[in-house]
Amino acid sequence: MSKQDEICRCGGELERVFLEGFDFSPYIKSGFGIRFEAFPVLRCQECAGETVASVDIETGLKVVAATLIESDDRLGPAAAKTIRRIAGLTQQALADRLGASRETVANWERTSSNKFISPQYDYMLRGVVATELLGSEPRSEDEVQAHQRLQKAALKSSKAAHTTEEFFAPETTQIIKLAG
Ligand SMILES: [Zn+2]
Repeated sequence: MSKQDEICRCGGELERVFLEGFDFSPYIKSGFGIRFEAFPVLRCQECAGETVASVDIETGLKVVAATLIESDDRLGPAAAKTIRRIAGLTQQALADRLGASRETVANWERTSSNKFISPQYDYMLRGVVATELLGSEPRSEDEVQAHQRLQKAALKSSKAAHTTEEFFAPETTQIIKLAG
């Protein structure tokens, strides 16, 4: 943690506490519900104000991506959109990487569309996202673990067929454990 993360604006000292049932959805901004069983926040011992450290958000995003990439089910619209956004790619940037058109990417992210992602693109998308996220240096022990999960997930994904018709229902909130 940086010095900035140790002191509250009021001057009070920050303590790292784990909140149960932490709603992570606002950090995803893809409309996908994500709830962590426990998630670290920094609580001020003076004013009781709570903040989330940027390194923990970063780690959380990587854990969400790893969880979705690990799945044996083919990516549903919300899951596909979520991991693309976590990787910081626009639909066009992803389409360019995959040699697909932006419309193709837009279609498999549209809940109302029947044009689900193909097993081939599903596998390629997982690889692109994992590669993108593993490109940044981990800044904490938790983030190192998140990287290990991403690496394993990408490897496992290359072996899975992803041919099942079971999709993540976009309405369903995913419950995620921080430590794998
Ligand atoms: Zn404070």
